[in-house]
Amino acid sequence: MFPQDGKENWKSGQGLWNDVPEEKWNDWRWQMQNRITTRRKLEEKIRLTPDEIAGLDAAGTHLAFAATPHYFNLIDRDNPADPLRLQVIPRFAETKIAPEEAADPIGEEKFSPCPGLVHRYPDRVLLISTNKCACYCRFCTRSRLVSDASGHAFRPDIEAALRYIAAHTEVRDVLVSGGDCLLLSDEEIDALLARLRAIPHVEFIRLGSRVPVFLPQRITPRLCEIFKKHGAIWLSIHANHPNELSCETAAALERLAFAGVVMGSQSVLLRGVNDNAETMRSLVHRLLQMRVRPYYLYACDPVRGTAHFRVPVQKGIEIIRQLRGFTSGYAVPQFVIDAPGGGGKTPVNPDYIDSISPEGRVEMRNFLGKKYFYPC
Ligand SMILES: *Cc1c(COP(=O)(O)O)cnc(C)c1O
Repeated sequence: MFPQDGKENWKSGQGLWNDVPEEKWNDWRWQMQNRITTRRKLEEKIRLTPDEIAGLDAAGTHLAFAATPHYFNLIDRDNPADPLRLQVIPRFAETKIAPEEAADPIGEEKFSPCPGLVHRYPDRVLLISTNKCACYCRFCTRSRLVSDASGHAFRPDIEAALRYIAAHTEVRDVLVSGGDCLLLSDEEIDALLARLRAIPHVEFIRLGSRVPVFLPQRITPRLCEIFKKHGAIWLSIHANHPNELSCETAAALERLAFAGVVMGSQSVLLRGVNDNAETMRSLVHRLLQMRVRPYYLYACDPVRGTAHFRVPVQKGIEIIRQLRGFTSGYAVPQFVIDAPGGGGKTPVNPDYIDSISPEGRVEMRNFLGKKYFYPC
C-alpha cells in the first residue's frame, strides 16, 4: 500500500523572508531580483558544508549559482543532504570531469541548423528560446549554454529559427524550451506563440519550463490570458522531488489548467534526490493531484561534472517496476535514456515478456511476477 500524500503536506510560505511585504513576495520580478547568487548571500541564510563552499567557489567558471527565495525556502536548512539543496547548491564533485562526460552529451550541436534550434526528429524541433533560468540545476544538460558563466555567451537566433520552421513544412511540433522560456517577457511569449501559430504546418506547440516549481509567482493571470488566446498549448514542467510541489506551485498549476494549458512533467533520476520508489511514488502522486501527467523520467545525461548525480539504469527500471500496476497508470512516466551522441530519447522498460513463439503466443509476467499466456 502506498501512503496517501495529503494536501496538508504541500509546504509553503515566506519562511526566511517573513518580513517582506506579501505583494513583493508574490511578484516574480521581486523574486528574480532577490535571488541568491553569491556565496556571501548564501552564507547569510544557511550553514554551508566545506564541500559546498568549494563547489560554490568553482561554479563561477562553468555554471552560475542562483536560487529564488521561493525555492530556497523549501530546503530543510538543517539537512546537508536535503534533496532540493543537492539540486541547486554546487558541490566540489562538479569540478571533476569523468572521461565519459561531455559538454554536449546528447549531441544537440550537430543537429542545430541555427543558434537555438535543434532538429533531431523528423517532425519536430526544439527551440532553445533563452539562456536564462530562475535557478540553475547542477545537473543541467545545457549547462554549456545557460547562465553565461562559462563565457560562451550563447544567444538564440529566434528570427532564424522561425524562418527555418516556416521553410520546413515537415515540422508539425515545436517544443519551446531553454533555458527557461517562461522567463521571457509576456510580450515576447505572446509574440512567439502568435508567430508559431501563424505557420500553417505547426500543429502542436509545447513549452518546457521549471518556472512553476522555481518561480510559481511568474504564472500570473496576465500570462494565463496569453496562453488562452493561442489555442492548445501543452506544457512540460520539470519536477524531481515532491517537496518541490509547494502550495504556490499547486496554485500556479491550477491557474494554468484553468487557462486550458495541458500539462505533463519531466523528471531526472538523481542520486540522493529521487532514486527510490517511495520518493518517486510520492512525486508522481502529487503531480496527478496538481493536474500534471508524469511524462518522462530521464536517466541523468553524462554532462561534464555530474557523475555524483548518476544512478545505475537498473535502479530506474526497478523504480518503474515498483510503480506499474501498483499505482494509477496515469502516474507512471516513460523512463528514457537520451542516447549520448545524439540518438534521441530511447525507452528503457522493465521486461514483462518471457517469450513470444513464432506463431505469436506470448508468455509473460504480470506486475506481481505471476505467469500468464496470451494466445496467437
Ligand atoms: C525531447 C526532444 C523533443 C521532444 O521529444 P518527444 O519525445 O516528442 O517529447 C524534440 N526535439 C528534441 C531535440 C528533444 O530533445
